[in-house]
Amino acid sequence: MISTNILEKFREIETPFYYYDVEVLKSTLDVLKKESDNSGYKIHYAVKANFNPRLLKIISSYGFGADCVSYNEIAAALEAGFNPSEIVFAGVGKTDREIESALKADIFCFNCESIPEIEVINELASKQNKTAVIALRINPYIEAHTHKYITTGIEESKFGINTWELEEVLRKMSGFKNIRLAGMHFHIGSQITRMSVFKSLCTRINELQEWFITHGVSLDIVNVGGGFGIDYENPEKNPAFGDYFSLINELIDLRPGQTLHMEPGRSVVGQCGSLISRVLYIKNGSQTLFAIIDAGMTDLIRPALYQAYHKIENLTSNGNIYRYDVVGPICESSDTFGKYIELPETHRGDLIAIRSAGAYGEVMASRYNLRNLAKAVFSDEL
Ligand SMILES: *Cc1c(COP(=O)(O)O)cnc(C)c1O
Repeated sequence: MISTNILEKFREIETPFYYYDVEVLKSTLDVLKKESDNSGYKIHYAVKANFNPRLLKIISSYGFGADCVSYNEIAAALEAGFNPSEIVFAGVGKTDREIESALKADIFCFNCESIPEIEVINELASKQNKTAVIALRINPYIEAHTHKYITTGIEESKFGINTWELEEVLRKMSGFKNIRLAGMHFHIGSQITRMSVFKSLCTRINELQEWFITHGVSLDIVNVGGGFGIDYENPEKNPAFGDYFSLINELIDLRPGQTLHMEPGRSVVGQCGSLISRVLYIKNGSQTLFAIIDAGMTDLIRPALYQAYHKIENLTSNGNIYRYDVVGPICESSDTFGKYIELPETHRGDLIAIRSAGAYGEVMASRYNLRNLAKAVFSDEL
């Protein structure tokens, strides 16, 4: 909740800006910590959801690991105090330089997405006289029932190794002297809200466990990835990690010596962030009232990119309710945060909050139209 006290402070700040409620973040992390301590599961926060250094520091202070998709993310994670022995490195297109740097940093594990990538890691590890620990990102062919741009576990996706390639991986392993195959990894998509999707994943994991055992391979890492969704309709609601952990605990058949790893991103940081903007103009169309605000798709691209819903609130009006198309200033029609949104009568100068913007918000900002990047403001620094 944005209190009147904080609202007074907002009036002094140049808009648009990202507002991070540190209390919300910490209450989310407290629950995650409790669940992971109880279950023994290892958490690797997916840095790509938000790499703001202040947030990374808070998250690392809980003792969690990090999931990175570029070497720059690994460097940011190290800078924020994450332990290299808790860092996993995913991505379909790791460059030689990134692999070399990650090997030098002695990260925990490479989550590998193709056979040619494993060959390159083997080669580069041999040059450093090291053994790279890898997990295979396996494509489990599960429909995530989310937007197609954030669905990653179906057959013709660029992500992951197909199950029909696993025999070949094992055949080649004997030639890979500088690789230790330690685990299997999955990540089937993002903003998954149907628990049945995770159920299917658990079933698939158990089948693959059997497959590896019959092929004489014992793995110590089972990494279920991220993807746990948040409730964009109810920004005050923290993710129900308890349900997710119980489901995994109940359904995945872990073998002796195995550790379960998770890579939550959105669910960790999504609800703690809001994009705060000012209304520039109210424009009367023939049918539509447009509220033109000073934040645009360059600050928060999710609605333009994935037709994503974010709750929009007018923080400074309590007039009669009207319906508005809330749009940004960018020269693109897709620069729309919401159509036909109910808001109290809105005027130039009103403050607008676009909620649940902590994940894939600030980090996806661009300078298109040569706009300034929105600054970050933290609740405990106001
Ligand atoms: C993006 C990503 C995550 C985090 O996904 P969320 O939906 O934000 O939880 C986890 N693992 C991998 C490999 C990813 O690419």
